[in-house]
Amino acid sequence: MYTAMVGAYMVSCSGSKGGGGQSEGDGVVKITTADLSGITAAGAVTGGAIASDGGVSVTARGVCWGLASSPVYSAGNSTSDGSGTGTFVSTISGLRPATTYYVRAYATNGTGTYYGNELTFTTLSDSGNPLPTAYNIYLGNTHSHSNYSGDAANGGTPAAIFAAAKGAGYDFDAITDHTQYAIYNTAAWTSTLAAAYDATTPTFVAIRSFEFSGSSPKGHINIFNTPDWLVAVAGNAANTEKSPVSFQGMQTWLGQSENGGAVACFNHPGLTDFNTFALYNPAVQGQFTMIELINVVSRGYDSQAPSNWYYDSFKSALQKGWKVSPVAGCDNHNLTAVAGWGARTGIAATALTRDALYDGMRNRRTFATFDKTLKVFYTVNDQPMGSILVAPQGDLHFSVKCSNASANITKIDVVGVNDRIAATKTFAAKSVDWQVDVPQGDAYYYLVIYEGGAAASPISDATAWVAPVWIQ
Ligand SMILES: [Zn+2]
Ligand SMILES: [Zn+2]
Repeated sequence: MYTAMVGAYMVSCSGSKGGGGQSEGDGVVKITTADLSGITAAGAVTGGAIASDGGVSVTARGVCWGLASSPVYSAGNSTSDGSGTGTFVSTISGLRPATTYYVRAYATNGTGTYYGNELTFTTLSDSGNPLPTAYNIYLGNTHSHSNYSGDAANGGTPAAIFAAAKGAGYDFDAITDHTQYAIYNTAAWTSTLAAAYDATTPTFVAIRSFEFSGSSPKGHINIFNTPDWLVAVAGNAANTEKSPVSFQGMQTWLGQSENGGAVACFNHPGLTDFNTFALYNPAVQGQFTMIELINVVSRGYDSQAPSNWYYDSFKSALQKGWKVSPVAGCDNHNLTAVAGWGARTGIAATALTRDALYDGMRNRRTFATFDKTLKVFYTVNDQPMGSILVAPQGDLHFSVKCSNASANITKIDVVGVNDRIAATKTFAAKSVDWQVDVPQGDAYYYLVIYEGGAAASPISDATAWVAPVWIQ
């Protein structure tokens, strides 16, 4: 697993120090690097032994590592393991899988920084985590209404909605009916599921879910993958089968064991909806994994002004601590809108099946795009987009793959907190592969994709917004 490059200890330093002949009292630290153990896909255990401080106290010690020989200490690639002489143990974490590293123990005293002998080791392959190549990108819609919604008079039957989505080339479509009207009942819920099963093929997945359409606090939420449905509000022509449930009641319901697989999405999120995103029940926060950054907006198919675009709300939700990923909802209340819609939700999933799509939604591997042919996927330190990275060390290694049949990708931004551009690169190609190391500093990062020509957004110069990664 590792090779000792230098068998005996060696004294060197980063500056002008060095040379032989020093003796006790000259401040030269004698340090060796401990053999490696506990090598995993992301780290290893080593350490050091300080035989002498040369008469000047050691104030910092640990190990440092890098991808090239003779790594030198910096805050981002080192451990800090106490002070003084003697032995110490260092645990390295945050490394890339299947990668060879060079490591040396270091010690700093008043005369400089000294290094032990160099060792190399290779981290294990990351079989415990899916590799990027395990995912495909599927493009579809997470928000449709059929005529069971009560306010969708021309909505079409669930079968007609699914057929329209399939005919328009969607990989998936979810019917998310309002449930608060008298027309909705358990028979509608059941028959929509039957229509979803009937419409699903190897190249198209139909999903049955519902829209919890709350008014106090204001805010609509699509809830996927539950065995039953709720009503959020009463009103004219109100549902006669179920009584309304409050937002808190809905969250309690989500916490019940039969709803453990549920995934929820903030719909058309106004900045003050959901109690200004204060709504927060830690017990079920992990089920709220998506937010509509795009709702309805398209290029000319409908009469709505291109105002239903929720980038500010997306950023507000992130700043309030929600771990949500962007999606696009057609929110069609008529049948023709499905075919004409120009935006898409992208989901990175291992297969085009209902369960695999739910897994992608639950783990925030989604993006919202105004270009219905754009595909994008990225990893950070080999973890897929949507991941939460715990205490990574050193720079964050972004690996981005983006392709588009219809237009060139012109720019990709890695965006941190408060619109900070952490990295950016321009392109002029339909398929790009971008590797970039980003210094740490933000609690989360997401991607914004730009492209030239007609496929750009009607309301901004960007085209797609991609799942964040979070750093804890
Ligand atoms: Zn709604
Ligand atoms: Zn809706």
